[in-house]
Amino acid sequence: HARFPRPARTRRIAVANQKGGVGKTTSTVNVAAALADNGAHVLVIDMDPQGNASTALGIDHTSGKPSVYEVLEGRLPMAEVVSTCPQLPTLDVVPASIDLSGAELEVAELPNRNTLLKEALDVYLDDPDIHYDYVFIDCPPSLGLLVINAMCAVTEMMIPIQAEYYALEGLGQLINTIGLVQQHFNPVLLVSTMLITMFDKRTLLSREVFGEVKGHYPNIVLDATIPRTVKISEAPSFSQSVVTYDPKGMGAIAYGEAALEIARRSPSVLEAIDARRNNA
Ligand code: ADP
Ligand code: MG
Repeated sequence: HARFPRPARTRRIAVANQKGGVGKTTSTVNVAAALADNGAHVLVIDMDPQGNASTALGIDHTSGKPSVYEVLEGRLPMAEVVSTCPQLPTLDVVPASIDLSGAELEVAELPNRNTLLKEALDVYLDDPDIHYDYVFIDCPPSLGLLVINAMCAVTEMMIPIQAEYYALEGLGQLINTIGLVQQHFNPVLLVSTMLITMFDKRTLLSREVFGEVKGHYPNIVLDATIPRTVKISEAPSFSQSVVTYDPKGMGAIAYGEAALEIARRSPSVLEAIDARRNNA
């Protein structure tokens, strides 16, 4: 297998968009799997109580099984809930279960409620025996406390955008929320990546959406786009990423190209993060 360039230090990336069904989970799982398949060490943290990323990576997340919920509540260190993806030995997963849906209310009164995930992740990554090139956090479709925790735990945001008529609707609200998090909690946070999903190159609409988003965010939008394919949508029912389920198919190839672009941008992204840190 070819090896992608590895970042000089761990890149922490939250995958968010408050719209449901735009491809957050699919993109988290498959970008992470493509990077791992090309030699990177990757951690995926599932922050959606639905646990779809856990399912798609073959990790059991039945209610009661130790998950990110126990970590947020301070009952277990992250190291004790990490599992390895059965198909990809360099891809680790912190699963989520439906128990997580209670967490927002249960921690709402804590003074450090916004940074619970960051604190737990920092401790885990501080272990000298642990090294990841990338940490991805799959967010639920909201702008609530779980998403704020994800935004506080990372230095980068990846925003999947579905190629459809209302693609840009709601993006302003997401950018505003990111601005508030930058202002109050995490000044370093950078929107580094946007990925157009469910792209149909035969339709004018898809090409228009790509052109419009690219026009607004020329250095952020990846040139790789993700086509709509049946294999991408059926892979999770086989508890796999499309990268291992259908490695030669269009979906795996597209996610491979997106992952390579993300890897190649590492030097400039890390430089931009350092610049934000120096200005903060
Ligand atoms: P989100 O996490 O933003 O809610 P998902 O990643 O779960 O979105 O995607 C929503 C639905 O669309 C899922 O059923 C998923 O399998 C399907 N889907 C996502 N991306 C694609 C794609 N490129 N081609 C076909 N189906 C897709
Ligand atoms: Mg999802």
